[in-house]
Amino acid sequence: MNYQHILESIYDEIRPFEKEGKQADYIPALAKVNPDQFGICLTTIGGTSYKLGSAETRFSIQSISKVFSLAYALGILGDDIWRRVGKEPSGTAFNSLVQLEFEHGIPRNPFINAGALVVADILLEHLDNPEDDYLRFVREISGNPTIDYNIEVATSERESGYLNAAIANLLKYHKNINGDIEKVLGFYFKMCSVEMTCCDLSHAFLAFANHRKPFSFSSVNLTASQVKRINAIMQTCGFYDEAGEFSFLVGLPGKSGVGGGISAICPLRYSVTVWSPRLNKKGNSIMGIKALELLTTKTKESIF
Ligand code: GLU
Repeated sequence: MNYQHILESIYDEIRPFEKEGKQADYIPALAKVNPDQFGICLTTIGGTSYKLGSAETRFSIQSISKVFSLAYALGILGDDIWRRVGKEPSGTAFNSLVQLEFEHGIPRNPFINAGALVVADILLEHLDNPEDDYLRFVREISGNPTIDYNIEVATSERESGYLNAAIANLLKYHKNINGDIEKVLGFYFKMCSVEMTCCDLSHAFLAFANHRKPFSFSSVNLTASQVKRINAIMQTCGFYDEAGEFSFLVGLPGKSGVGGGISAICPLRYSVTVWSPRLNKKGNSIMGIKALELLTTKTKESIF
């Protein structure tokens, strides 16, 4: 398969859409990002990478971090994690309060904010140095020891994160947060603020694409079955309340973030990350979804 040629033809086809949508601005620090950027990196199961555009530019991974935090917490708690967070698509916005109230503080899944706040609480409970331990895992899984938090983004979100604070309070009221709310929010915002490139993320997601290889890192070890289950949750819950549409158009498990990144995997074939900050109304990258739709069409490789 000539992936490089395919990436180039995809870029030509999506350029007419490059001014559609706008970047997230509800986090003030993200509003400063130049929206006119596009990068993509695809890494095959054999480890060869193909890239195009700003594939080596760091961006805010935001909710893509929820895949790493879920992997970490699943490695610690095993199936007990499902007592505190569900695995059903939410059908509501990623930061919705309403559903959480109806369901008495058990978030629908670990990829909406409520679920990720519970996962952050679990990590705080079990890790000696959560911020260092989490960063070490992200660096190890991506093979890049220079990856770091962006303190400006984390602080900016903390100062404006009223909705996430409301979610954390509701979770605490329902006794699904054990620790201190401020600490949980601080750690959650830190994890969202991590900056990575398309190539970093593409390397990291290879561990999810290849469940035949042991998922074994110094502090996180998962069985093949656990990896496949994380992939299943990416398929059903990875794109806010647009997971069905993404599945329909693209047909790959993946996770998006409001920084404009999307990481997706084609099990046992490749992982791919695309980044472009302009988002649609559901919070997903417009160029990103179009690029991945064309990728699975042109390669004829998807899970379906
Ligand atoms: N830090 C963002 C928030 O909590 C993450 C949102 C996202 O990427 O979905 O609002």
